[in-house]
Amino acid sequence: MLIAGNWKMYKRPSETADFCRALTAPDGVEVVVCPPFPSLHEAVPTGVTVFAQNVHWESEGAYTGEVSAEMLLDAGVQGSIVGHSERRQYFAETDETAWRRATHALEAGLRVIYCVGESEEEREAGETGDVLRRQLGVVEPRDGLVLAYEPVWAIGTGKTATPEIAEGAHALIKEVVGVPVLYGGSVKPENAEDLLSQPSVDGALVGGASLELESFNAICQTAARIRS
Ligand code: PEP
Repeated sequence: MLIAGNWKMYKRPSETADFCRALTAPDGVEVVVCPPFPSLHEAVPTGVTVFAQNVHWESEGAYTGEVSAEMLLDAGVQGSIVGHSERRQYFAETDETAWRRATHALEAGLRVIYCVGESEEEREAGETGDVLRRQLGVVEPRDGLVLAYEPVWAIGTGKTATPEIAEGAHALIKEVVGVPVLYGGSVKPENAEDLLSQPSVDGALVGGASLELESFNAICQTAARIRS
């Protein structure tokens, strides 16, 4: 089981190393942190698995503000989130650009957590399955690729998908792509057990609750209990 903490634009370099050293990785659980770019070099030497939050599709070039897979690997980073809904919503990420980023990263040797999920309006209109199939239309199974089902209405809102909603979406994603699938969207210690015990849920991508040691460690412990 994989539990990844997406720090988003939180935690400065000076806050990073002590936090990472205080994380516990129980048996059977791979713990990953995804700090912002300037904090990556503080996280790597602590020994925790470190992913970035975004990665470009070229190795180098005139792409101001972007970072390549080769640069991340050189810095000791092992993977990256790609296609997070906040990238899609605020930075014009599309299915095509997200998959370009993912394929280059995977070919370069990074692992990838590739995010998909429907908006509230899409869910209310009964379009979840169509939206997921469209987003997955560009995706092919690859070594090192993990999907994350992140319903947009559940990210940072405190609203969590019911275990049944999560299970249904994960089963669809696995049927289409056939790789492990993490659940993301307001995962907290209080709801982790119900979500992580679903048969098609292979772990979690945790935002807000990954910023506090107590809550993140508690979610990792829950994952270990379920796995054992
Ligand atoms: C995320 O950022 O991927 C996320 C799931 O955030 P939160 O847990 O805060 O909803």
